[in-house]
Amino acid sequence: MGTKMKAKFDGMCKNCGEEWHVGNEIFYQKDPKAICADQECFKSQGGSLEFRSNYNRPAQQTSFYREKIKFNLPHVDVPEGVTQSAETLVAVITKADQLARMFYPELDSESQVFGQIRSKLVDQLLVVIFNEYKSR
Ligand SMILES: [Zn+2]
Repeated sequence: MGTKMKAKFDGMCKNCGEEWHVGNEIFYQKDPKAICADQECFKSQGGSLEFRSNYNRPAQQTSFYREKIKFNLPHVDVPEGVTQSAETLVAVITKADQLARMFYPELDSESQVFGQIRSKLVDQLLVVIFNEYKSR
């Protein structure tokens, strides 16, 4: 797999003649070797990119790019009680989503801010539910 990187040296593509300088974005793959500042030329040399979808995103979204983090999930049987709690949680999230849409009808529901508001409402709903449960 190749990667997009900043050039550490000035260089020129043996394939298409494209030149690049230190700090320019280039496409580089060690094996099989492929290198060019031009993505199409890089591909024509047998180069491929690991996070291809990220490079095709609009420029203003690149700041949201995150590195992959390894997550180890142990294999355990999920007890019935946990499944029931999860169903309660899903219901609470659904309700919080409805509330967020009601309070902020013009806010993009796919936005990070909307997600934060919804998440906060989930917390608050859980506190209310817990307090009502306790007072029974
Ligand atoms: Zn080239």
